[in-house]
Amino acid sequence: MRKPIIAGNWKMNKNRDEALQFVYAINKEVPESELVESVICAQAPVLRDLVKRQGDNLRVGAQTMHELDNGAYTGEISADLLDNIGVTYVIIGHSERRAYYNETDEKINKKLHQAFRYGLTPILCVGESLELREAGDTDNFVKDQVTKALKGLGSEQVKELVIAYEPIWAIGTGKTATSEQANDTIKGIRGVVKDLYDEETAEALRMQYGGSVKPHNVDELLAQSDIDGALVGGASLDPESFLTLVKAGLK
Ligand code: PGA
Repeated sequence: MRKPIIAGNWKMNKNRDEALQFVYAINKEVPESELVESVICAQAPVLRDLVKRQGDNLRVGAQTMHELDNGAYTGEISADLLDNIGVTYVIIGHSERRAYYNETDEKINKKLHQAFRYGLTPILCVGESLELREAGDTDNFVKDQVTKALKGLGSEQVKELVIAYEPIWAIGTGKTATSEQANDTIKGIRGVVKDLYDEETAEALRMQYGGSVKPHNVDELLAQSDIDGALVGGASLDPESFLTLVKAGLK
């Protein structure tokens, strides 16, 4: 059985006061981490504050990081620092990073290797545009993204990895892929991993759906055979809503 993982991606939202209020509001109600992994991915300057208050069951993630150890890369964040301050997850290759910050498949592959070197659990994002979906190219496109991202990773690493399938057209738009559409694509990704590695690795790998996940649709998505969790933007900003989402992982 794969343990459900629900991650909030706050993107560029919440100042320190708001972030801390959020954590105080949810702290006592976050489900046991043995049953469901609950993660908040916040802006970098507040990560340490969140780690200090994460309690037993919440975990903290970054939204991106650099692929190299250190050096003259103004504005970037290293895996070393993330690990050093107690961050345990990092989103890699979110479609907004791919679109606005020129994150290529090659860079994303390097970032995955780097995250594993520092013991961080990467949440790798993949997903197609509306044009690709309408042209019937979703499976090929996503397969290519996954294959390039995983290059050189060992099966033990892939078993620890989380992949978030996020169709770009469903992010922040209120349009969700139907749970069947999401499950079909995610199953396809599991098939790709099986071909690249083996069945055991493919079965161990956890996969989230992301794109307009809300309290009203999370149950249906999580009920699908291959969807092990959700990566949630907008609906992760409100404490009550986030709690509803993480508790859906218990069902
Ligand atoms: P959304 O964002 O839930 O607001 O659609 C999801 C994401 O970008 O991870």
